[in-house]
Amino acid sequence: MQPLRRLRLLATGGTIAGAQTGGDSRGYRAATLSIEALIAAVPQLAALAAIEVEQVAAIGSQDMDDTTWVALAIRTQAALDAPDIDGVVITHGTDTMEETAFFLNLVVRTAKPVILVGAMRPATAISADGPMNLYNAVAVAAHPAAGGRGVLVVANDEIHFAREIAKTNTTQIGTFDSGHRGLAGLVNAGRLHLYGPPVRRHTGASEFSVTGLPTLPRVDIVYAHAGMGRELIDAAVRAGARGLVIAGVGDGNLSMVAVAAATAAVRAGVAVVRSSRTGGGVVERNIEINDDELGFIAADELNPQKARVLLMLGLTRTHEAAELQQLFYRY
Ligand code: GLU
Repeated sequence: MQPLRRLRLLATGGTIAGAQTGGDSRGYRAATLSIEALIAAVPQLAALAAIEVEQVAAIGSQDMDDTTWVALAIRTQAALDAPDIDGVVITHGTDTMEETAFFLNLVVRTAKPVILVGAMRPATAISADGPMNLYNAVAVAAHPAAGGRGVLVVANDEIHFAREIAKTNTTQIGTFDSGHRGLAGLVNAGRLHLYGPPVRRHTGASEFSVTGLPTLPRVDIVYAHAGMGRELIDAAVRAGARGLVIAGVGDGNLSMVAVAAATAAVRAGVAVVRSSRTGGGVVERNIEINDDELGFIAADELNPQKARVLLMLGLTRTHEAAELQQLFYRY
């Protein structure tokens, strides 16, 4: 019999470790249960892999921040560099799961499986989704074919690429969607069905890494809307943002007065990326806004929160808009 593959499970909290706070099923607190308690709830995991655990954080993922990202990336890389570890599973809240997955996808160097997993219902809820999601995540991480595909997210019997996944629903267990490019695969009670490889650079082929990563620069997101003024853009620049992502209307558009503010921001040395609040499509250069003239960067396919992650990392290397634009075509 083949020896079991060895995984390290890094816990960060989230609803998968959440417990209801009262007698009714409404209120709950994320990140309440230990990782040991989560594993104990799924004894079937013992047949899938030999699992060692490490608690990296105990937070709801709305509190995920740059410092925790870097700490998590360092612990993930350390686990992956250990010769006896075959893969990593990270438990995480679903609110900012897509950002953490994309961050790790860009900075972790590995061909081993790295799987993020969360749940929409707290561990104490009726029909909690965490135990099956955890079982499936461990099954994926223990499967050699899951390596070399970048960071993956497992939830609701689906496997998502870090670059494609987005949370699209406040509460439903089918919240994750991978838009135009689709799923990385399906996982049915631990049985994998993997689809095509990811389309852009990741992990082993990424130019970013956790080694020597300087402090991440401040990048803010400003949400566009009818009647958008310039005040929030000006405020972000005053607050010290080195980059701005505009969650633009439609094809990454913003009002004339906001364009003027963003142009002033570029002149002040701030990188401005146009993304879209629509949740789909490609933001291309020079359609209704002359990016060449104004010095803006188009987010291509990245939603605002992922554009922010790439811009933060990009700004650790360059402030040239043309070079930053190329990153949005590469990742
Ligand atoms: N706010 C929680 C979190 O992101 C809820 C989401 C979840 O884990 O499902 O940690």
